Amino acid sequence: MSNAGASPRRIAIRGDLLDMTADPGFGGVASSKVRFNADHWLLIEDARIVGRTAAAPDASWERHDHAGRLITPGFIDTHVHGPQIDMIASYGAELLEWLNTYTFPAERRHADPEVAAMGAATFLDALLAHGTTAAVVFPTTHKVSVDALFEAASQRGMRVISGKVLMDRNAPDFLCDDVENAERDCIDLIQRWHGRGRLAYAVTPRFAPTSTPAQLDMAARLLQAHPGTYMQSHVAENRDEVQWVAELFPRARSYLDVYESHGLLTERSVLAHGVWLDDDDRQLLAETGAQIAHAPTSNLFLGSGLIDWVKLHDAGAQVTMASDVGGGITLSMLRTLAEAYKVQALQGVRLTAWKALYSATRGAARALQLEHEIGSLEPGTMADVTVWDWAVGPVATHRDRLARDLHERVFAWIMLGDERNLVSTRVAGVERYRRGESCGS
Ligand SMILES: [Zn+2]
Repeated sequence: MSNAGASPRRIAIRGDLLDMTADPGFGGVASSKVRFNADHWLLIEDARIVGRTAAAPDASWERHDHAGRLITPGFIDTHVHGPQIDMIASYGAELLEWLNTYTFPAERRHADPEVAAMGAATFLDALLAHGTTAAVVFPTTHKVSVDALFEAASQRGMRVISGKVLMDRNAPDFLCDDVENAERDCIDLIQRWHGRGRLAYAVTPRFAPTSTPAQLDMAARLLQAHPGTYMQSHVAENRDEVQWVAELFPRARSYLDVYESHGLLTERSVLAHGVWLDDDDRQLLAETGAQIAHAPTSNLFLGSGLIDWVKLHDAGAQVTMASDVGGGITLSMLRTLAEAYKVQALQGVRLTAWKALYSATRGAARALQLEHEIGSLEPGTMADVTVWDWAVGPVATHRDRLARDLHERVFAWIMLGDERNLVSTRVAGVERYRRGESCGS
């Protein structure tokens, strides 16, 4: 799988270069935070971006001519469940029933090392085939599922943040752990994987209902003992879930406060959903630096609700973009952004293409404290780069030709595009996906 030795030292890719330089906010379609260079060459040396030029570079560069195509930073998916591609698109249930009926039985299979290894490879290759080069991932409670994911990510050179799922109550026996064994497993996994290459460990209580207070305390101990580790979980996704958490944790002010009172909110905390929050919660997110991984496709598919992104933004909380497969029904961040637009439209808010794109690239990198490495085409960052057709098929092609300005064009690309628009995906300069070919091995 690893072909780093075969990787050319100097690569130049020609196309229309698009990335964001900062948060455009909820403003108009004209934004100074957009950087666009039509028909330029993006220059990559070894694994990193080193610059851009209008003129063709000399023959010492391996040139890839994608003139007329769009070149963007690889997408960052801040919340996705690898093993849930096994039961994506399951019918007819809201969150709690959906977990018991479909999710938990599917995750059980990943106790088998062979299933876990094949599942991790399939999942990461699928991310790459959708233009996603970095992700914050839930495997399962099984230690082998974490090893399999990190091993597969390491082979592909991908930036992956993940960790063993913690569950010690309110779940089937075959998924439950206990505080002592889980802590020992986590420490072993952290020692072997955290900070190795582009991998980072995330302490991962599934969500408040499936962890005892003792397990949440243990999770906080791990975070404190291992600087630089992340924390990932779910918060306030669905109304029945919020009610259940209030019953399980009667002393907590809110669902989010369960995590805060157990010492789990830091600038490296990634909380999926955040649909049912109040003003104090939003303030707490801003103060701690914990981010909300917004999963619009999942929120619509499971009927969970509509996030108030503007209130989060105004409070100073960071919101990033997530597929949440298998609650979400696609790994495509383009389709995810299109659904995010509709979630805002239902509340009378306009989400520009710029704010949308920022949340799935540089904004996510910033929220993860990784802006120096991913999320833009800035010199010095890793060359995680995707090449896209602006349009595929007669309708999108027709629409693209009639676009009068850049926002109109990028917005139509987001609304009408999906993984079929993707031509090539590079991770640290190495091509890991090319349309019509399998270049994964
Ligand atoms: Zn989730």
